[in-house]
Amino acid sequence: MNTQILKLNKAGQPVAWVDYESAATTLSKGLVLWTMGTAESVLRGGIQRATGERSSISIPPIIAVQGRVKEKTVPRISNRLLFARDQMTCLYCGHQFISRDLSRDHIIPRSHNGADCWENCVTACKRCNHHKADRTPEQAGMELLAVPFAPTLNEYFFLSNKNVLADQMEYLKGGFKNVLRA
Ligand SMILES: [Zn+2]
Repeated sequence: MNTQILKLNKAGQPVAWVDYESAATTLSKGLVLWTMGTAESVLRGGIQRATGERSSISIPPIIAVQGRVKEKTVPRISNRLLFARDQMTCLYCGHQFISRDLSRDHIIPRSHNGADCWENCVTACKRCNHHKADRTPEQAGMELLAVPFAPTLNEYFFLSNKNVLADQMEYLKGGFKNVLRA
């Protein structure tokens, strides 16, 4: 199953996507402060010797636990998240590609001291990247189709999971700042 549980800290910041097993363990240890969303999944354990019944536990889609509250940080850029941010679309020609036909383009090239950060990186197909080469879009006569942005923490968690549940989406959306298409 690809569905994952959104784990928050006590301040409500997303901390991790965890699987059912891990969420069930956290719940059964009494480490969950509060939960959100409708519990749909029931994890069945072994048959209990005393009662002959199967143990079960409902896992809510969002759980909050104790833990350090982090200063808001910009998640580190990776190709996977960059391509997800740009919806697998080359921001020069506007066509969609599969991951292996895409690349990370530095708008201001590295050789011109362009930074390897979210605001200076866009998804580009290999053809466009090759054509742009070691030039700025202006020098290459190419136009960007969207303004690149650094995702917020909530946007990062949305982008890093392909199977976000409705309750989780509703929660994460509260921390969206940029235009993200689901
Ligand atoms: Zn392209």
